[in-house]
Amino acid sequence: MTFAKSLACRGCGEQYPIQPLNVCEFCFGPLEISYDYDAMARHITRERIESGPPTMWRYHDFLPVNDASALDMGTGFTPLIKAENLGRMLGLENLYIKNDAVNPTYSFKDRPVGVTASKALEFEFETFACVSTGNLMGSVAAHGAKAGLDTKVFFPANLERSKIVGAAIYGATLVAIDGTYDQVNRLGSELADNHHWAVVNINMRPFYAEGSKTLGYEVAEQLGWKPPQHCVVPAASGELHTKIWKGLQEMQDVGLIDNVRTQMHLAQAEGCSPIVTAFENGASAVQPVIPDTIAKSLAIGNPAAGIFSLEVLEETNGTAVACLEEEVAEGIKLLAETEGLFTETAGGVVISSLKRLVKQGKIKGDEVTVAFITGNGLKTPEVVEDVVQPIHTDATYESIVDSLAAAAA
Ligand SMILES: *Cc1c(COP(=O)(O)O)cnc(C)c1O
Ligand SMILES: [Zn+2]
Repeated sequence: MTFAKSLACRGCGEQYPIQPLNVCEFCFGPLEISYDYDAMARHITRERIESGPPTMWRYHDFLPVNDASALDMGTGFTPLIKAENLGRMLGLENLYIKNDAVNPTYSFKDRPVGVTASKALEFEFETFACVSTGNLMGSVAAHGAKAGLDTKVFFPANLERSKIVGAAIYGATLVAIDGTYDQVNRLGSELADNHHWAVVNINMRPFYAEGSKTLGYEVAEQLGWKPPQHCVVPAASGELHTKIWKGLQEMQDVGLIDNVRTQMHLAQAEGCSPIVTAFENGASAVQPVIPDTIAKSLAIGNPAAGIFSLEVLEETNGTAVACLEEEVAEGIKLLAETEGLFTETAGGVVISSLKRLVKQGKIKGDEVTVAFITGNGLKTPEVVEDVVQPIHTDATYESIVDSLAAAAA
């Protein structure tokens, strides 16, 4: 059973029955799932959620999936950690890290893909596919393997090696394309038009997008059924940023939490920061760019949800910030050295952007702040390889003691 009742066009409001479709036939606007919130409010309680599994599926009443088919790989309900050390350094008493790097394929993408894979099985697709900036394809390949679907992933050929291996291992067909993500995405749309495939972030996009809402529910539940004052969220397409906000609002609308006044801040790296540029210019649309950034998981030059992210920034009094390219690795190291958490480039962007937000006075001392760490550092080791400086010694006790003394001096 699901409370999802239709697909609604965000442009003109046209309604469609639930189906694998992402674009309005009248105005070409993006489609989004709409729900029967009155029925949800009667049905959903804190107790009902608390008695669910320790995964994102404890929130299945908020998702467009009939629960019997849910493909639960153990995604979600990841740790929310009080970041005492990093907080002290930044002057924040109530800083939390949402560590979503510990999902089954080590990024938050398991949330949207978990919803999509479940829905692809309901629609009886046999082929599961995606276009990816890196983390998505690992998740799609893993879920495809678990669901017994034929899986094909399309990606820009310049991705990090660990991300390519981390998708190939699951037995998917990998197609590396000599082009940018935005070129790969256009080709993906063409492939989706001509094949009966469930393409996760194209014809299945309305379902995919909903999975990220679970990060919003989870953070509020983990804070004792209270929304945070600030969220700092990395953005590629902008979908995650808008859906965490949708999740918090839904929780308020069905009466699980009150007074959501969360400020939704958005983080990008300078080499691909079209949403930040639009925000700074006060523009209502995003000008596409050609990405040139070390943060490849965020390298989308023409962000599909960019305009909705701008709306969320305005509605929540959030700020969009870009960190410098050299600050990406610095952010990764800072989080590792203070909190013992190794994140990938997107997390480096979040930590360095958080630092800027504090410096600009946007986030203050005791305000409850959640920084979203969305991917694992072992996926992008090349970015911080300069930290690898072992002490090299002969295999004798004296050599070790001498080398340690020399290193300490
Ligand atoms: C995909 C991705 C993002 C951005 O997600 P969008 O919803 O496209 O904005 C952030 N962090 C990581 C690690 C990702 O893989
Ligand atoms: Zn429309």
